[in-house]
Amino acid sequence: MLSVAEALSAVVREIEPFSPATIPLSDALGLLLAEEVVSDVDSPPFDKSLMDGYAVRADDIADGRALLKVIEEVTAGRVPTKSIGRGETTRVMTGAPLPQGSDAVVRLEDTQLDTLSDTVRIDTDPASSARNVMRRGASLKRGDHVFAPGRLLRPQELGALAERGRNAVGVRVRPRVAVLATGDELVPIDETPKPGQIRNSNETMLVAQLRVAGAEPVPLGIARDERTHLSERIRAGLECDMLLLSGGVSAGKLDLVPSELEAAGVRQVFHMVNLKPGKPVWFGVWDAAPDNPAGRQDRRCYVFGLPGNPVSSMVCCELFARTAIRRLIGYQNPEPQQVRAKLSVAHTTRGNRPTYHPARLTWEESEAIVTPVNWQGSADLRATVDANSMIVFRGVDRSYAAGDVVDTVLWDR
Ligand code: AMP
Ligand code: MG
Repeated sequence: MLSVAEALSAVVREIEPFSPATIPLSDALGLLLAEEVVSDVDSPPFDKSLMDGYAVRADDIADGRALLKVIEEVTAGRVPTKSIGRGETTRVMTGAPLPQGSDAVVRLEDTQLDTLSDTVRIDTDPASSARNVMRRGASLKRGDHVFAPGRLLRPQELGALAERGRNAVGVRVRPRVAVLATGDELVPIDETPKPGQIRNSNETMLVAQLRVAGAEPVPLGIARDERTHLSERIRAGLECDMLLLSGGVSAGKLDLVPSELEAAGVRQVFHMVNLKPGKPVWFGVWDAAPDNPAGRQDRRCYVFGLPGNPVSSMVCCELFARTAIRRLIGYQNPEPQQVRAKLSVAHTTRGNRPTYHPARLTWEESEAIVTPVNWQGSADLRATVDANSMIVFRGVDRSYAAGDVVDTVLWDR
């Protein structure tokens, strides 16, 4: 049986990152830049005021006090039309371009306007007035390198690109990922389960996990544990870049997923990984035209069969499907990120496999501290609500002491 590390390597090895494509900036949140971005403007584009106040000649206020003639008022979005001469000033708003001739801004609080004579009395610290101006190009000059390929597009990167007028960017596009829940016991979440039935909560959870991971989920509803229906739904899922199935991958009588995937032409890469929860996880690759290189459309679908128990599904999606998505969208290190953290309490693992145990990671005096949450196993999804990470207990039937250092996989990253 593969270890988690071996299974993750297999996912990375099998998956080829998408080719770059240009998409609207507004759709790019959470994707990685696939181009070099160079500034085509100075930022800011002009000397600008950082305060509401009066633009002045610094040498007019050298000792902090002056009486100046107000020659103009520049409101937001307007430009000054008059140049400032000795003894003159212009009222400016935050963000406004400085009038010619001025090189400092006295904040409003340090001024007193006399509207009858259109003069303003100034009593200020000259040094701070010089700091109230941001020079053209102070943040970035035309031709400066802004972002390198591989940069994660967060809200601030999108803002910085918008500032440069980039309404489209080169990225590796969001994978479309089909989600198919299997099981005769499942009903849609808006139905009341009859005896023996449960709600299809995995679909909601997996769809949300996929969104967080940067994918575009395509929910396909419920497939019955019956070959014809399952295979029809699998074929629909293969239209996407990835297909996640939940349930039906263990060794039970109605666990039809592996054989139906094989029948649909999906090549198995692995089945069963040495971890708890999630051991029966299945991974394979489907090629649109494997035997016909000449006519080959460059279309593949990567398929994961996740065990149906909610925490197994969640953990395997987080470990394997998320790595696949990160690989497709161009991460250099797509594997789950781990931090070393100190156990806050003693803990004993039971069973014969490395365990991914839901946990709460906090920072105390710049040290990572982790506490396993009270968790009843793979069906206990409620416990994960108290968690923001999972501890990797590699030891089998082993006692850990408080203060032991353990690897912890972050969920919110
Ligand atoms: P399976 O992996 O198909 O053997 O499913 C194992 C258990 O996981 C089932 O008995 C259900 O209790 C639960 N389960 C399976 N599919 C779902 C689902 N879509 N949503 C919530 N629980 C599920
Ligand atoms: Mg089942």
